[in-house]
Amino acid sequence: MEELTADVALVGLGAAGGSLLRALVRDGRARAGRRPLRVVAVEAPSASARRSASRSWCTWGPPGWRYEGDVAARWSRVRVVDGRGGVVEEALDPLEYRLVRSGDFEAAVAACAAGAEGVELRRAEVLEVADGVAGASVRARADDGGELLVRARWALDSRPPALPVPGRGRTVLLQHFRGWRVRTAEPVFDAGAATLMDFRVPQPARGTAFGYVLPTSAREALVEYTEFSRQPLTRARYEEALRAYLRGALGVGEFEVLEAESGVIPMTDVPFEPRAGRSVFRIGAAGGAVRPSTGYAFSAVQRQVDAVVAALAVGEVPVPPVPHRRRHLLMDAVVLRALDSGTVRGSELFPELFRRNGAARVLRFLDGRSTVRDEVRVMASAPRARMLRTVGGLALSAPARRRPAR
Ligand SMILES: Cc1cc2nc3c(=O)[nH]c(=O)nc-3n(C[C@H](O)[C@H](O)[C@H](O)COP(=O)(O)OP(=O)(O)OC[C@H]3O[C@@H](n4cnc5c(N)ncnc54)[C@H](O)[C@@H]3O)c2cc1C
Repeated sequence: MEELTADVALVGLGAAGGSLLRALVRDGRARAGRRPLRVVAVEAPSASARRSASRSWCTWGPPGWRYEGDVAARWSRVRVVDGRGGVVEEALDPLEYRLVRSGDFEAAVAACAAGAEGVELRRAEVLEVADGVAGASVRARADDGGELLVRARWALDSRPPALPVPGRGRTVLLQHFRGWRVRTAEPVFDAGAATLMDFRVPQPARGTAFGYVLPTSAREALVEYTEFSRQPLTRARYEEALRAYLRGALGVGEFEVLEAESGVIPMTDVPFEPRAGRSVFRIGAAGGAVRPSTGYAFSAVQRQVDAVVAALAVGEVPVPPVPHRRRHLLMDAVVLRALDSGTVRGSELFPELFRRNGAARVLRFLDGRSTVRDEVRVMASAPRARMLRTVGGLALSAPARRRPAR
């Protein structure tokens, strides 16, 4: 068995592990005394069943972002379409909605690791992450069967979490989707606008369904069919829904499928615990980065990464914070419960939120950057009476943002 030692072991190099590695390399403050931190990152080999499939990550914010070089497409306008075809479209100026493909991001992570002093990247499937008083140990197996043991002061584990079990007063919905990157025979897409939610799809008996369109030209787009509900569909059902959406609402005739992408993201008010032990911490989706009401996580991951790097720079325990405000988690718990119970229909709630607030305020809110005034307005535009009817059954104990403990 090969043994390595490190200051920091990164388990998984997706959005969270990859962002952390890049931040550690970029930020010379994180050092162990006079030398750079020694970092060993372990990512599952391509053939491993554990390896995450390709993902299209979108975020919004002002241009000139930290991953500017990885941006594959950007949109200055966003659109939400209600079930009757009513369109709310808005210029985001000075913000933009932008797409980073996980493959491009991972290539940038690998390039960053290759040139960095003290950083080693290994392709192996992690079998166990064990906590100890003086550090963590990470046991992994490479494709050739060779075993690897990494002993590290700290381990940051971003392996995807198991689906949470809904306890009393908690809600677990799934955001599940399948998308196709399509090329159409005719020019049908408006490449300047991303469609965040298009409700011109049949709504399930329980839950919410919508289309999502990221056009990269008049003839190419990533088109997804998404549901917020309790059970994923079969691949055949997603594809039937996708075909119907493309042909019906989008009016696409002939098209070819260039790539497919799918995902299941838990949307839940079950709290995630970033601290897995004295030396082992969860980060990313496993550490509670997913915003419960939306499934977006990429921006929140960056907040966790910044906190971890800042803690390492001053020799503190690098526990990733829960990257959402407590009041946002409470509001999300109400929304999730209302959607899950059917008290509020997502196909009515979301278009109305965008129509009455404008996209910029809703996106600020969804990104955790809203002011209390923004939030009062957002809540005032929701069907409050019906939402509040759901509050009674909630377990109102969202985890607070935690300062890393020593
Ligand atoms: C298809 C899809 C699209 C999404 N789109 C968006 C979006 O547009 N915007 C947004 O904000 N959020 C989006 N999300 C949600 C969230 O941002 C992503 O899930 C994000 O990838 C979470 O980052 P992570 O680092 O926690 O997990 P991941 O990025 O999945 O990283 C985990 C890493 O661990 C590796 N791994 C797993 N098991 C092992 C093992 N045993 N040994 C070694 N390595 C292992 C995986 O291969 C992977 O690289 C999307 C999610 C999915 C699934």
